[in-house]
Amino acid sequence: MALESKVIITAALTGAMTPKKLNPSIPVTPEEIAEDAYRCWKAGAAVVHLHMRDENGSGTMNKELFKKTVELIREKKDCDVVINCTTSGDNKASYEERMAHLPYVMPEMASFDSGSFNWMPFGIFDNSPQFLEPLAIKMKELGIKPELEIFDSGFMGIAKYYCKKEILETPCHYQFVLGVLGGMEASVKNLQYLCDMLPENSTWSAFGIGKDHMKIMYATLALGGHIRVGLEDNVYYSAGKLATNVQLVERAKRVISEYGKEVATPEEAREILGIKKLER
Ligand code: ZN
Repeated sequence: MALESKVIITAALTGAMTPKKLNPSIPVTPEEIAEDAYRCWKAGAAVVHLHMRDENGSGTMNKELFKKTVELIREKKDCDVVINCTTSGDNKASYEERMAHLPYVMPEMASFDSGSFNWMPFGIFDNSPQFLEPLAIKMKELGIKPELEIFDSGFMGIAKYYCKKEILETPCHYQFVLGVLGGMEASVKNLQYLCDMLPENSTWSAFGIGKDHMKIMYATLALGGHIRVGLEDNVYYSAGKLATNVQLVERAKRVISEYGKEVATPEEAREILGIKKLER
């Protein structure tokens, strides 16, 4: 099958916020996160998106935890999953702390949230120009592929601004995040609207938060995007039934194949995203 028919599944395993008491399957220690990453890769995920938690279960940008987790994943010699680290894992972390793990861990991808908004009811999701510009420069220097997380349509213009300044390299990869209160609502209409704003040759993926997860997954497939699933975004498999990360990846794989496409391997995902081959 041609590369155009391949769909990348990203597994967002943990996130920064959802407490384990809401779903005991949320991995929190480096060992649990690495084990889940491996299982999700086996189930069909080409990319794993990583957050870290401290000993109280709160999101942290502690670079040692990122390092340990990534090493545990890379220790599994048969697993070539693409590793994507967050840069927004703790709203109390300084801008420097949010970037410190990048040169230390050297993930192949990292999130780049190209705008700020009121993340209701928690507070301001702060991605000021004073953070974004040095972040983009650092990622370019290190050769880390930015995943432009787009929570609202204004974020697209900010991404475009950094592309024009040539500190974000084109074509970019966009991740549409729909359904966070304060960002765009998770509707098919909004997804279509964002797709219409994509610069030519971009690659993109999308997901809806919580109950809107399935709707956005099907619409994303129909519109030709890649898919993200995982307990960071949604803790239920169906109404009242808790999910595991692996179950969510397995379902995405089935949906993709029923649609007539194929799940991308990590190597195919690297080719699609313009990431160089994994060196061991
Ligand atoms: Zn995340």
